[in-house]
Amino acid sequence: IAALSISGLHKTYSNGFVALRGLDLVVRQGDFFALLGPNGAGKSTTIGITSSLVNKSAGSVSIFGHSIDSELSKAKKCLGLVPQEFNFNQFEKVIDIVTNQAGYYGLPRKKALKNAEKYLRQLGLWEKRDDISRALSGGMKRRLMIARALVHEPKLLILDEPTAGVDIELRRSMWSFLESINAQGVTIILTTHYLEEAESLCRNIAIIDKGEIIENTSMRTLLSKL
Ligand code: ADP
Ligand code: ADP
Repeated sequence: IAALSISGLHKTYSNGFVALRGLDLVVRQGDFFALLGPNGAGKSTTIGITSSLVNKSAGSVSIFGHSIDSELSKAKKCLGLVPQEFNFNQFEKVIDIVTNQAGYYGLPRKKALKNAEKYLRQLGLWEKRDDISRALSGGMKRRLMIARALVHEPKLLILDEPTAGVDIELRRSMWSFLESINAQGVTIILTTHYLEEAESLCRNIAIIDKGEIIENTSMRTLLSKL
């Protein structure tokens, strides 16, 4: 089974705007995959539907074989999402943001604390665990979103423009962290509008434009054509 399988996905927003027009996409288990496309192409809409934050108009989405229509809670357990914008409570402590997220997925308290410590340490945030999130730098907030997305140990991690507005040093350290997570077997999908970012990380790539996939190939093949 695929990590992610999307078929015939359509989205018309309530103002009548057609954002996705029959999008098909398969991402294999263990892949490091890029969804590349210009602003407004439909990347965030695709991710929003996959993570059930946005309603689809038609089509189907399965995560590790679990349909988001008929097996949503199973599908959700397989997925960790790093959204584009910071969406945590500014006055909550770093450690609580991560452990509470684990609670939403039904992890026992002990396991939640263990995983929170593991990922906060790996992401260099353990010393900051008792700070409120508002006190963190922008780069630390990005890393906190990654720790929160991983705490329930999802098999698929999706990141929406993970390095937008991130300086080059942090970008490199985020890249190597993501590579290590992928090497441990987590399938990773990231959206970006920088080919350069996709090029250094991803094995396979799909290019989306105006709500459709216009190219879906290995990174090596794509680069040999340019
Ligand atoms: P849905 O069709 O999924 O119910 P809505 O059309 O109700 O979604 O919009 C959801 C939210 O997105 C609203 O708060 C809306 O203001 C906002 N929104 C509207 N237009 C845009 C746009 N072009 N880009 C991003 N967000 C938008
Ligand atoms: P990307 O992530 O590739 O930049 P999006 O999926 O955010 O693209 O947006 C695709 C298109 O849908 C854009 O033209 C955007 O303005 C529009 N859009 C996004 N959200 C809404 C919304 N809630 N209502 C109406 N249009 C929207």
